[in-house]
Amino acid sequence: MATRAEGRLRVVGLGPGPAEWLTEEARRAIDAAEHVIGYYTYLSRIPDLAGKVVHGSDNRDELARAQHGLELASRGESVVIVSGGDPGVFGMAAAVFEALEQRPELRSLDVEVVPGVTAMLAAAARLGAPLGNDFCALNLSDNLKPWSLIERRLTLAAQADFVIALYNPASLARSQQVHEAFATLRRHRPPSTIVVFAHAVGSKEEELRVTRLDEADPAAADMRTLVIIGAEATRSIARPGGVPWVYTPRRIDG
Ligand code: SAH
Repeated sequence: MATRAEGRLRVVGLGPGPAEWLTEEARRAIDAAEHVIGYYTYLSRIPDLAGKVVHGSDNRDELARAQHGLELASRGESVVIVSGGDPGVFGMAAAVFEALEQRPELRSLDVEVVPGVTAMLAAAARLGAPLGNDFCALNLSDNLKPWSLIERRLTLAAQADFVIALYNPASLARSQQVHEAFATLRRHRPPSTIVVFAHAVGSKEEELRVTRLDEADPAAADMRTLVIIGAEATRSIARPGGVPWVYTPRRIDG
């Protein structure tokens, strides 16, 4: 009697948008899958879904999506759950492991995470080398954690003079927090600090703005924007015909 191959689950990063930023491994994982689970916006980035069962959802309830993926895989199906950028950076991978932790009987399931190019690396490449020295990444969304914790981390990161990459700076439902975040940053960083708004990197709507902390308009950030706050050593170089290069030197003298 033919037995069904064992199920598997791949949590796949699609990169920031364009096909050339989709890794070969990610493409192969998607090609091999029978089921594709993900947020509609991300599914539309996948060139060929023919013959696959597509489970599109809105961006809410990541845990339910993860549980659904595990459930299908446990029944012998080959499943990918897709995330924009890298699935481990404010993406679906953590939700999958949260779901797995709740289901001890599924621990032997074949689960793998396939990395992707995260937004801050794509934005950094466009700009030059803003992350050339120590940096940190903060998710400004308070959907899943209290705003007080975000403020505390932002304050400490600013005081520690990290370059700071801000993911999820704003959305339609959260337009005020980014203003509060900038007020906090202005209390702890000099006015000349370089600020970058990197919008929709890799898409036709891509737009990079390089400005200073005292002149930056937080309203420039939306849900497709990654904000980079420079460290004290971060500087810019004029680039004829383009936005300035931004880099943070490797060497910082004490
Ligand atoms: N897992 C994703 C991040 C998900 S959080 C990754 O690794 O990139 C969503 C946030 O990522 C957005 O609000 C925005 O801040 C950032 N982002 C994702 N794609 C982007 C892009 N192409 N350009 C600029 N920022 C992007």
